[in-house]
Amino acid sequence: MSKRDYYEVLDVSRTASEDEIKKAYKKLAKKYHPDLNPDSKTAEEKFKEINEAYEVLSNPDKRAGYDQFGHAGANGTGGFDFGGGGFGGADFGGFGDIFDMFFGGAHGGGGQRRGPQRGSDLRVDLTISFEEAAFGVEKDVEIPRLENCDVCGGSGAEPGTQPETCPVCHGSGKVRSAQATPFGQFQTVKTCNRCQGTGTIIERICKHCDGSGKVRKIRKIHVKIPAGVDSASRLRVANEGEAGELGGPPGDLYVYLKVRPHKVFKRNNDDVYCEFLISFVQAALGFEAEVPTLDGKAKLTIPEGTQTGTSFRLRGRGIPKLRGYGRGDQFVKVKVVTPTKLSDEQKKMLRELDASLSENQQSEKTKGFFNKVKDAFMG
Ligand SMILES: [Zn+2]
Ligand SMILES: [Zn+2]
Repeated sequence: MSKRDYYEVLDVSRTASEDEIKKAYKKLAKKYHPDLNPDSKTAEEKFKEINEAYEVLSNPDKRAGYDQFGHAGANGTGGFDFGGGGFGGADFGGFGDIFDMFFGGAHGGGGQRRGPQRGSDLRVDLTISFEEAAFGVEKDVEIPRLENCDVCGGSGAEPGTQPETCPVCHGSGKVRSAQATPFGQFQTVKTCNRCQGTGTIIERICKHCDGSGKVRKIRKIHVKIPAGVDSASRLRVANEGEAGELGGPPGDLYVYLKVRPHKVFKRNNDDVYCEFLISFVQAALGFEAEVPTLDGKAKLTIPEGTQTGTSFRLRGRGIPKLRGYGRGDQFVKVKVVTPTKLSDEQKKMLRELDASLSENQQSEKTKGFFNKVKDAFMG
């Protein structure tokens, strides 16, 4: 099932502030609320869609995950999954409870006190040269990420103060309530609204991070790229993603590589390919060529009578194998260049050469070709 972009759903820009998102959500939720649109399937669908988008975009962690990885990123951190319909009669408060009940509590693990959570994974794209991919390289990449606030150490409380036990749930992070629903009376356990399930509240919030315990920073990460990587290779740098919540471990950083094409070489797995131009005299007489390789120039013997398009293999001159030992090979494909702008004297010499060539000296291929042409005309 394809999903609409959450920003589109709430009709806000990707850079919208938390306040703008909240306002947009309130406006739309009012418009499509099931109580105001009884019997409208469309309004119900819209209402669900709006709630789902808001659930992700109103949470800085989930929003960051969504920005990085799309819907998959948002779901990875516990997205809201709306199942079947039929909740048209429930009031707004009842909605969340029913979903908590049926879907194992998308918020805060089934009414349990919210514990440490791993930070989000991050993705960064990095372009490297052909040679860097072949032989490996070390690079610094800059990534924006959420880190624990260094003023409050991630607690969100003003330095010198401590988060206190929540007076509503007494630290458990959950509250019980009886709920009337279209299915009858349900005893539900839901996440405490006062403390959002953490069990603690902060009386004096840290001014540096506005109580979130997190700050966005641009961080330089040193990345070691091994020899033999290729476009679409993905490197994982452990623990360099975003900071975890409530003391949870940080996420990982994924570096997606793109390799710039080379002016001379092409690549297929571990093998390298290049073209090499030679004159028709060199092709006819043979010679000792110096061909380019990833390691500089290398000698290659072109035997006499070499045809255009012939490939020569240089063993072990390809790309180092990413897994295992050794290197691929290099293939040099020669291309015979026909001379142009010949002088009258040179043309005369070539005509004499042509006349002197016996039929046996023409290559088998050429003979075969001309015979076929003859056959075609004779029918
Ligand atoms: Zn702080
Ligand atoms: Zn509480």
